[in-house]
Amino acid sequence: MEKEQLKKIILAVAEEIATHEQELTQLDQATGDGDFGSNIKRGVLAIADAADEIAGLPFPAAMQKMGMLLVTTVGGSSGPLYGSLLMAMGKAAGKAPENAAELAKVFAAGIESVKARGKADVGQKTMLDVLVPVLETLEQGGGDLLARIRQTADEALEKTKSMRATKGRAASLGDRSIGHWDPGARASQLAVKKICDVLEGRA
Ligand code: ADP
Ligand code: MG
Repeated sequence: MEKEQLKKIILAVAEEIATHEQELTQLDQATGDGDFGSNIKRGVLAIADAADEIAGLPFPAAMQKMGMLLVTTVGGSSGPLYGSLLMAMGKAAGKAPENAAELAKVFAAGIESVKARGKADVGQKTMLDVLVPVLETLEQGGGDLLARIRQTADEALEKTKSMRATKGRAASLGDRSIGHWDPGARASQLAVKKICDVLEGRA
């Protein structure tokens, strides 16, 4: 990945998450404790502030650095989880992925790390309910991949509405967590779609 492209991705994702801060907070109020919007915004802005430095690093180190920034600035359950996602991706990548298949391998390693750290899997109303379907579409590869990834992210997010949370603070709400998107899944869908936009030259 080119230096400029990583910087564009960082800035576009940060802006997208920051723009949705209130919505993410409201989702976390409905399903958890309401800290998610401001926490995740702090994390993506810390990454955006360091965008030039990060984009100048080799891909593995850039991912590790972004992951560390999320762990140290976000807090909650999501900071360490998104942090492990990126750090494990950095660890798994010998160099910047050059195609969908290479990216899928690196992304899979990141997701395994989230599952291990959070002791969670799909169906528990978490970020994994968007990340895992997106990985599966990426692994399939084929034509119109970015469009299919966007669609997967949308559909997967929608499915979190009817799920009951059993992980994170949201777990204590029991059935009251049903009927809303999971905030971590929403943030993941927003980020995935923004990355697709940048890769397609739309953003
Ligand atoms: P907390 O639940 O501790 O308040 P945050 O508000 O920081 O955590 O983040 C909430 C989001 O984190 C949830 O919407 C969910 O997507 C994700 N999450 C929480 N626990 C887990 C877990 N064990 N595995 C994967 N994702 C999780
Ligand atoms: Mg919370």
